[in-house]
Amino acid sequence: MDISVSLMGKVALVTGSTSGIGLAIARVLAKNGADVALNGFASPDELADIITSINKETGRKALHFPHDLSNLAEASELVSAVTSEFGKVDILVNNAGAQYVAGIEEFPDEQWERLLAVNLTAAFATTRAVWSQMRDRGWGRIVNTASTLAFQGEARKAGYVSAKHGVVGLTREVALEGARLGITCNAICPGWVLTPMAAKQVEAKAVELKISFEDAAQKFVEADMPTGRFVDPSEIAAGVLFLCSDAAKSITGVALPIDGGILVTGTRLV
Ligand code: NAD
Repeated sequence: MDISVSLMGKVALVTGSTSGIGLAIARVLAKNGADVALNGFASPDELADIITSINKETGRKALHFPHDLSNLAEASELVSAVTSEFGKVDILVNNAGAQYVAGIEEFPDEQWERLLAVNLTAAFATTRAVWSQMRDRGWGRIVNTASTLAFQGEARKAGYVSAKHGVVGLTREVALEGARLGITCNAICPGWVLTPMAAKQVEAKAVELKISFEDAAQKFVEADMPTGRFVDPSEIAAGVLFLCSDAAKSITGVALPIDGGILVTGTRLV
């Protein structure tokens, strides 16, 4: 995705950046000059590959921080650890996310708590932790990964849908508080992107309907995506890159769908 922005001298913390959308965001921010702090779960080999490839492709510093964002205190500590290592955090992308699919009656307590913690509470905790340094420098960019499910419901996703609605509320609140401080806060709302998180749901559909993964994936696209295709992670990353640029300094508090038109149709039929 070829838009370019100068983020030279900036430090970006991207949560949930060991795969999927977050990794694409970290790569594009590094490609445009930022040093990047990675976070999320991955094996040591996967982490080594990710860091080596970012260093090679971009020449930027990239380090991994293993903090578990289902824990509010660890989410705050993540910002301290990144600040100690890189000196500051200019760009915070709250992208880590978790999904669990079950009807209301059988939705487990621990999954409700995990989904709220990872998708929503962690974004509050990292934002609060990064606030004073962004305020003191008079510049900050916060981007939260929400979802089209911040605006729609989908049966059997109570934890996720509730958390993502909350992410948009948090985004608006933070935008207002940052408006005179040089800090913007926006949300991006992806449609279906074929990442490990989405693939799990496609796999479940394939098992349920006794069809192949490819046929199940096609069903998701046909039912939900007016464009007839998944959104590519690089398309989400391009939106984030723009929101991090100086050109976007008057854009704050928005929830930007990058969704192939899902929110236009208003249907979720899979
Ligand atoms: P993914 O599974 O590839 O990535 C999720 C990331 O979050 C991984 O790096 C994972 O290690 C990390 N993570 C999960 N739990 C964590 C925890 N407790 N602590 C720290 N890190 C944790 O999925 P993705 O699709 O790239 O998801 C990225 C974001 O995009 C999520 O917020 C998700 O809700 C959102 N989203 C995805 C889609 C889609 O179709 N894939 C659509 C809308 C929104």
